Amino acid sequence: MTSLALLLVACTTDDGGLADTDLTSERTLDNCGGTVSADVPEPYATWFLCADVAVVDGYLNVYSSNLPPHPSPYYPTDSDNYVEFDTRTGEWHQNPNTIAAQELLLSIPLEPTAKGITVTEALVDVEAGTSDEEFRTDWQGVTVDGTALFAGVAAPGDDIMEEEYTFDVYEGHPQNTGVYHHHGTNPAAVAVAEAVGEPDVEFYGLMCDGTVVLGCDEPDGTAVDAADLDAQSGHVATLLGPDGTTWFTDRYHAHACDDFGRTLAPEIAYYSDGC
Ligand SMILES: [Zn+2]
Ligand SMILES: [Zn+2]
Repeated sequence: MTSLALLLVACTTDDGGLADTDLTSERTLDNCGGTVSADVPEPYATWFLCADVAVVDGYLNVYSSNLPPHPSPYYPTDSDNYVEFDTRTGEWHQNPNTIAAQELLLSIPLEPTAKGITVTEALVDVEAGTSDEEFRTDWQGVTVDGTALFAGVAAPGDDIMEEEYTFDVYEGHPQNTGVYHHHGTNPAAVAVAEAVGEPDVEFYGLMCDGTVVLGCDEPDGTAVDAADLDAQSGHVATLLGPDGTTWFTDRYHAHACDDFGRTLAPEIAYYSDGC
């Protein structure tokens, strides 16, 4: 019943992220659809693919069907996106879940308000449900390819480091209701960077509170001083795009990067709204 209801809702929208819930035809960055309203600013307007993006009352609304635009062993076997699981060095193994279309909806504040917290080691324990400052439990963030970006935590009793061994080669996997998601750095976002003509920019996505998730460098290529970063590799800075235009003014963002010992998305919401 639930999936039928979602499908009916999806079919009422314009062409774009939500409407395309076809699980069998091949889905790629070229054909995944998505619409961008005229008032959506950069970098969202250029970077969010496979989703419908609009500005509503000071929020960036992102809608998508949450279907990854690349091959995955987690697609149903009759899907053109289905591939066999790659065990890599033999340590990776498939989880029992299968990708399903969702109704992903995030309203992310365009001008978020800081809570005034400092993200300390004590807050960042890589386990869900241990702090009121964590991201909410449903859609926590969105990857630039329109798929879910989950916080860098595992459900209570699970180990995120163990979970990582069930990632497909795009560093994503579905949970038990078929919600495909990433937890941090991933080649799917790198493919978006290539598709928008900025292959050197590591822009992974946004968390629900407005926290930007980046890779090792700032978007304009500026190096990051590890001494500036908090316990989830975050700090506040004005971020320029690769062409020198301002992307975000004094914005908290996290650097998911091996160099800083952390490739996961953040765990703690720095801002007060949206999550
Ligand atoms: Zn997961
Ligand atoms: Zn930075």
